[in-house]
Amino acid sequence: MTEILIRNADVILTMNDAREELTGADLLLRDGKIAQIGHGLTTNGEIHDASGCVVTPGLVNTHHHLYQTLTRAVPGGQDALLFGWLKTLYPIWARFGPDQMFTSAQIGLAELALSGCTLSSDHLYLYPNGARLDDTIAAAAELGLRFHPTRGAMSIGESNGGLPPDSLVEAEQDILTDMIRVVAAFHDSAEGSMCRVGLAPCSPFSVSRELMRDTALLARDKGVMLHTHLAENDEDIAYSQAQFGCRPGQYAEDLGWTGSDVWHAHCVKLDGAEIDLFARTGTGVAHCPCSNCRLGSGIAPVRAMRDRGVNVGLGADGSASNDNGSLITEARQTLLLQRVVNGADAMSAREALEIATRGGADVLNRPDCGRLMPGKRADIAIWDVSGISSAGSWDPAALLLAGPTQVKHLFVESRQIVRDGAIATIDLPRVVETQNRMARALAN
Ligand SMILES: [Zn+2]
Repeated sequence: MTEILIRNADVILTMNDAREELTGADLLLRDGKIAQIGHGLTTNGEIHDASGCVVTPGLVNTHHHLYQTLTRAVPGGQDALLFGWLKTLYPIWARFGPDQMFTSAQIGLAELALSGCTLSSDHLYLYPNGARLDDTIAAAAELGLRFHPTRGAMSIGESNGGLPPDSLVEAEQDILTDMIRVVAAFHDSAEGSMCRVGLAPCSPFSVSRELMRDTALLARDKGVMLHTHLAENDEDIAYSQAQFGCRPGQYAEDLGWTGSDVWHAHCVKLDGAEIDLFARTGTGVAHCPCSNCRLGSGIAPVRAMRDRGVNVGLGADGSASNDNGSLITEARQTLLLQRVVNGADAMSAREALEIATRGGADVLNRPDCGRLMPGKRADIAIWDVSGISSAGSWDPAALLLAGPTQVKHLFVESRQIVRDGAIATIDLPRVVETQNRMARALAN
């Protein structure tokens, strides 16, 4: 029995059902789970003094393309819209292999961890030169983050009217075969699972209608989740109407892509009927505000989604369309954008943090994560509010208005991943060096 006591936190934001906030409180972790929350707790195990700190559930990232950390701020894609941006990057990604996938995933996940994230999904939809989903799963396991990798796919190349070059697409039968392989090899459905696999054709414009439908059938057969990009921008809606004769929501519904086992990234352009469809069916949304800003896609109707009962989580999105991979920054951007559209009282700092924690966990069907309650997983972010970013704050728990953007400590399943602001599980400076060497090689 291993115990860790986090003692005397200025505030614990529990995100429990009553959204309780406890002052001067303690949190006892035991064997990967939260054992107790309260005052005056004791242990014979390890003790962390959390005075001067705010404690929150670990943040949950519901959308990313970790491999893209190797193509941040590529000059030809810096100022492009989505489709033009993709066309710039596809030929570079076509030169990736297993080593690039592993290293870029470690960088992306480490960056997330430093920003308070304990559970991340990933959407890997291209597998050049022998790259496999296994490469990113190995990266997450070594770093120690809870991981929901999704086996993505593209099957319609340029010669068939698609966007990606033919070298980056796969035969649909091969895609389904590998989906079955990775689910069998890595998916763990148990409570407290450190790895759950999802199935995730890249987007309606990069695979066939048949693959969308077959993937949904396979996911239901295996009991795994479904994920893709949907309704990201105006071009996306126009493509759907021209190619499929309907809006994205209708397309998703027709092919079995709605339900509590489905979550869609972006959904910037969902209309009222589509929001109702998502609410009615329990379909989740990964909101990626910085990526949406960066690509000029628009502002997702998060306020309306939440008001109508849609499960919304946050996504950093791929580092090539966000460049920055900080999840706490996404949470702040969420509240800022909703205020731009709906006014200053449209979203509080606490609600945005709730979306970033509990909200994301609910999108990923992880009621065992995203809230600090006895029996839930010990995924904990500890924020030092004694420094300059909180100096003068009258409400340090309003972290997203004034507060640090990196954690002091981070625990996943009771294991310490960040210690005193540094990654504790891998040699991060060495990985950064490797990543930079790889980026230079790709640029030449
Ligand atoms: Zn994406």
